[in-house]
Amino acid sequence: MNFNLENLIRSNIKALTAYSSARDEFKGDAEVFLDANENPFASPFNRYPGKQIKTLQETLAQLKGVNCNELLLGNGSDESIDLLLRAFCEPQQNSMLCFKPTYSMYKIWGQINAVAVKEIPLLLDFEFTADLALKNLEPTTRLIFICSPNNPTGNAVSIVEIEKLCQEFSGLIIVDEAYIDFTEVSLSAISLMATYPNLVVIQTLSKAWGLAGVRIGLTIASPKIIAVLNKIKPPYNISTANAEAALKRLKNQEHFKAELASVKQQKARLIKALESLKCVEKIFKSDANFLLVRFKNSTLVFDDLKSKSIVVRDRSKELGCKNCLRITIGTALENDTLINALKTFDK
Ligand SMILES: *Cc1c(COP(=O)(O)O)cnc(C)c1O
Repeated sequence: MNFNLENLIRSNIKALTAYSSARDEFKGDAEVFLDANENPFASPFNRYPGKQIKTLQETLAQLKGVNCNELLLGNGSDESIDLLLRAFCEPQQNSMLCFKPTYSMYKIWGQINAVAVKEIPLLLDFEFTADLALKNLEPTTRLIFICSPNNPTGNAVSIVEIEKLCQEFSGLIIVDEAYIDFTEVSLSAISLMATYPNLVVIQTLSKAWGLAGVRIGLTIASPKIIAVLNKIKPPYNISTANAEAALKRLKNQEHFKAELASVKQQKARLIKALESLKCVEKIFKSDANFLLVRFKNSTLVFDDLKSKSIVVRDRSKELGCKNCLRITIGTALENDTLINALKTFDK
């Protein structure tokens, strides 16, 4: 590995003097705030976001076992993906790799940023290997996006393969761990961060933490990478209201654990029910809170469920996903409704 972060930073970003907000610059205990043109009359939100963001940052850093300067909070992980592309790829010149099938936003953010996207088909049963990426590198490749557990297939990527790639690739490897809380055995790539400065992990509070509506994404990387991203993120990208909602939820670890246990139990139950249906051909191994299921005819199943007011995700057009639907694990009641609907269809 011949990794040098300085060589990866887009030239105009390197040259940029970042905006420094009033709240960034003032460190101390002031009582009179006449610095930010806010409405002075006290209400929950008359001030720009301040200490709640810092508290949220500290809480999440502790939860993930990293330092505050190794963590950047964004408006969902979408913001992380966009920031990484903007910081480390010259538009029209550099390129990124991602895999097929995977989360479609990597490619879309690449296209939005005028970064060429090379998509590599995953192997049989959606297996990822470092070789798959290494064989497809080009001199212009700056970023490699890996989703683990992968959406929409559900399988986690081998940490050994991620490590191999970190050793060989001199750009950035971004591992999206949106579903990491649902995995049973697989380790977070955060464990490799101390060894590999070219590794970036993104996580989110949108899935297991039940905060999709609050929009909090985490980017975890070396302090140097985080400093570059901090330079270009909007100054107040997390709102006070959202930070408060997240803090409230993060306080209740017991609730989180109970919900996680329920999802895992419901997943086992749903797998069993699906296995007994004639219309089901294959249930792919999942480390996430959803199942990719191959039906004999997914269009008939999708339309039948839709007519019964049940929405699942049609993934049948994705590579290797013919006749596949992606089904999120719901509450016991929702899963009952789904199972009954499928049983009736199966008759
Ligand atoms: C759901 C999901 C996310 C979450 O995105 P947010 O913007 O944080 O809500 C990220 N990556 C993958 C692969 C996902 O499936």
